Amino acid sequence: MAQSPRAQAPPAPEPLPIPVVDNHCHLDIGRDGPAVNLADQIAAAAQVGVDRLVQIGCDLPSARWTAQVLDTHPALLGGVAVHPNEAPGHAAAGDLDDALTEIEALATHPRMRVIGESGLDYYRTGPEGVGAQQESFRGHIEIAKRTGLALQIHDRDAHEDVLRILAEEGAPDRVVLHCFSGDMAMARECVRRGYFLSFAGTVTFKNARDLRDALAVTPLEHLLVETDAPYLTPSPHRGQINAPYLIPLTVRAMATTLNVAVPTLCQAVSANSEQVYGPW
Ligand SMILES: [Zn+2]
Repeated sequence: MAQSPRAQAPPAPEPLPIPVVDNHCHLDIGRDGPAVNLADQIAAAAQVGVDRLVQIGCDLPSARWTAQVLDTHPALLGGVAVHPNEAPGHAAAGDLDDALTEIEALATHPRMRVIGESGLDYYRTGPEGVGAQQESFRGHIEIAKRTGLALQIHDRDAHEDVLRILAEEGAPDRVVLHCFSGDMAMARECVRRGYFLSFAGTVTFKNARDLRDALAVTPLEHLLVETDAPYLTPSPHRGQINAPYLIPLTVRAMATTLNVAVPTLCQAVSANSEQVYGPW
């Protein structure tokens, strides 16, 4: 039976000359069906020079799954949080505090190095959910500071409030703007504050000129790269399912925008990743 084009996996890109880290992926989520075998995903990534991955579990079942797989897959470090789009549901059910308590408990695993993704999403959640999202975001900032872990931020159409709340609460030592989506001015402000900007496949999209302008003003010392797999598949495979082995497409596009050699960029994102999360 013929597969639909969406279900077919894109071919493996040319391997990177120096291994990099996928800073943010969801290996437990299969976009068009059950997730592909975890060991196969990790092996396919390693073959093209993506030898370390940060697996993000952003609801309670996914966070528990993340804690489990860290024990058996040395290529993985983990992150846990209640996603901003999950926060209003927990608040309505009256169990947001309990959920945050469980997140903090899961974060004690020695290979759990990220609190995230947390933040604000004004695109998918309407005004009625803003209060719960902000309360949850403030709670995650506290957890990141108590545990000493890096904070990965989800910011969709909420740049000003994300920066404001981080300033009000006092940011943790290491802050990563996951799937950075701001403009040049925001990139400069994040760099000024010492945050890291993690770019995803969106930076390869034809219509992403503002995002490439933001990338172009970000110093190498503040850059990270991620897939956000299974979402945000880089060009020329936009619309198909994403996986960590496709990160070389994003890295090469970033090197072009930055006007740096590919090995130089690989070296930088690899070193920055270990600086943010610690050694694998
Ligand atoms: Zn994500």
